[in-house]
Amino acid sequence: LQAEAHENRNQPATTEDGHTIEVCANLGNTAHTPDAVDRGADGVGLLRTEFIFMAHPEAPDLATQVTEYQHAFDALNGLPLVARTLDVGGDKPLDYWPLPQEDNPFLGMRGIRLSLTRPDILETQVRALLTAAGDRPLRIMFPMVKDVEEFRAARAIVSQVQAEVAASDVQVGVMIEVPSCALLASTLAPEVDFFSVGTNDLTQYTLAIDRGHGQLSAESDGLHPSVLRLIRMTVEAAHAHDRWVGVCGELASDPQAIPVLVGLEVDELSVTSRRVPLVKACIRGLSLETARRQAEKALSLATVSEVRDALEAW
Ligand code: PEP
Ligand code: MG
Repeated sequence: LQAEAHENRNQPATTEDGHTIEVCANLGNTAHTPDAVDRGADGVGLLRTEFIFMAHPEAPDLATQVTEYQHAFDALNGLPLVARTLDVGGDKPLDYWPLPQEDNPFLGMRGIRLSLTRPDILETQVRALLTAAGDRPLRIMFPMVKDVEEFRAARAIVSQVQAEVAASDVQVGVMIEVPSCALLASTLAPEVDFFSVGTNDLTQYTLAIDRGHGQLSAESDGLHPSVLRLIRMTVEAAHAHDRWVGVCGELASDPQAIPVLVGLEVDELSVTSRRVPLVKACIRGLSLETARRQAEKALSLATVSEVRDALEAW
């Protein structure tokens, strides 16, 4: 299977009954973009830009960031790039951005909340992304958004920069990582261009299990029916408004989860570059109709063990 997946890596991920899913790569380093393209990625589905910030002793200036993002766009040769704006706090420290002392940093200043306290940093980043993109396809998404108010505040910064920097193919979306956002997806959908489900954080916040917890790691599973229901709500709301939905958390490369996500009709999966050929091969071996039935079955169950057992038996 490995050899066959590798050989066909540049073919689209189309199911037996003709339904195509984009399979993109998650990157933390733009220098790895050529490798992602070489492995057959249909684009970059998640650029974790905090790694670019971590590689510098202070926040990289506009010119530094432009050069950085240009590397990715050049290597992508017209394929889309989904850049997540700086996601700091919780499990993601940044030396030169001291965070407040908090009892629960995972429930405190992190992600977009933190970025909105320093709009100058966010604005510089957005300016660098738009400048580097030019007429190439750029999708900007905000991390850890909890509702439309936060999205609007961040979106306003993009709109303001867009008025000054010409970039012709830009979409603006939100990550679905906080359950409130999935529950309110129908109120967000009319205002966003897309959603990308971050199952790592969405699972953590839905099940109240720290994503890095050693002892509880087996229970921290994105195939939990509660998480699947949130993903379904997100997809239904998005499609009702003609928006696309990706999944960029670890769940997207889990062989048991792929049929379920395809059956829930997500439009894009974004995974570690190394896994792109296998995820594409796995989708080619599915039919949308069967995947829908698998998703339905998973959604009808009560616990994650029931879901895993049912999928295993399938
Ligand atoms: C996620 O939370 O699922 C995600 C993709 O973002 P990160 O893992 O970087 O928090
Ligand atoms: Mg996350």
